[in-house]
Amino acid sequence: MIIMKADATKQEIDNVIAEVNKLGLRADVSRGESLTIIGLVGDERKIPFSYLSVLPGVRDAHMIETPYKLISREYSKAFQEPSENRVIHVGNVEIGGETPTYIAGPCAIESRTQLFRIAEEVKKAGAHILRGGIFKPRSSAHSFQGLGAKGDEEAREALTWLRDAGRAFEMPVLTEVRGENQVDLIAEYVDILQVGARNMYDQDLLGVLARKSKPVFYKRHFGASVEEFLSFSEYIAVEGNKDIILCERGELPIGKGKNFTRYTLDLAAIPVIQKETYLPVMADPSHATGRRDLIYPMSCAAMAAGASGLAIEVHYNPAESWVDAAQAITADELKKIIDDCNRIHGLTAGQNKKVKAGK
Ligand code: PEP
Ligand code: MN
Repeated sequence: MIIMKADATKQEIDNVIAEVNKLGLRADVSRGESLTIIGLVGDERKIPFSYLSVLPGVRDAHMIETPYKLISREYSKAFQEPSENRVIHVGNVEIGGETPTYIAGPCAIESRTQLFRIAEEVKKAGAHILRGGIFKPRSSAHSFQGLGAKGDEEAREALTWLRDAGRAFEMPVLTEVRGENQVDLIAEYVDILQVGARNMYDQDLLGVLARKSKPVFYKRHFGASVEEFLSFSEYIAVEGNKDIILCERGELPIGKGKNFTRYTLDLAAIPVIQKETYLPVMADPSHATGRRDLIYPMSCAAMAAGASGLAIEVHYNPAESWVDAAQAITADELKKIIDDCNRIHGLTAGQNKKVKAGK
């Protein structure tokens, strides 16, 4: 990180950027009210700090050790635009703003009729963003893999339904991208690209996806520490895309015997992550629990913990969902969750802001 002197001229700043580029590094420039800070992105072994620190106009040049510096609050503090949270705008929807954001829809898109009916219902219930899986990650190769797995034509058809349902009911749309070869196709149709828990570590996918300059809904792997989760988010941020929505969706339960839930929702991770980074953090109580009777309590708990919103699977006939039937809820149940979570947010947001800011 290079901090310029308060009276550094434009020419001095440009000169430092040119020197940085000559070294084969990228300059991430932030002009604060009184200071300009230049973050260096690239192979850190190549950075000659002693040389850079004596260039005209430079006040200081030093290494930032955290592996997730671009998304960390600490680093953004140095940029003097700290403690502010990043608000991500998609169409008319805000994520990470003053009010919670709700993503809802079916686990998997089954037909145009199914999707449009669910879209209409979740919109009425108060959802802001429509989800629907087209390429499904499944534990069994013999299960339904999503309409996209049937072929290019079927994938495009389902993507068209998703885009059109979003337009019809005025919601941005989101679907999961499982591989690099799907990125171009999916990005043509959707507003937000989802990286599923299983792909959290796929740095090649993250790079390709980030370059689409669309917000990324990024889910924590069920075995990843918070540090790993944030460190891998950095693969999106280094491409210049900081529109990253982090999502806590549960860790693998430990111990012998029955655990009764699909995963364990790591509630404490929500405020912890929000202290570490200015990015919004959402929670997914559907995959975290795998049980429809637990979606309400875990939604409320995640909201009280300071989540910026929730992602919930909904079906008009939950028991008949082709995928993840046990965790699907109805739109009426979603409405109750949204209403109550908005009230919980009203009660807890002020205190949670202080927690985030470290007060
Ligand atoms: C999903 O959101 O559709 C999904 C498969 O979730 P996860 O990647 O968290 O398992
Ligand atoms: Mn699902």
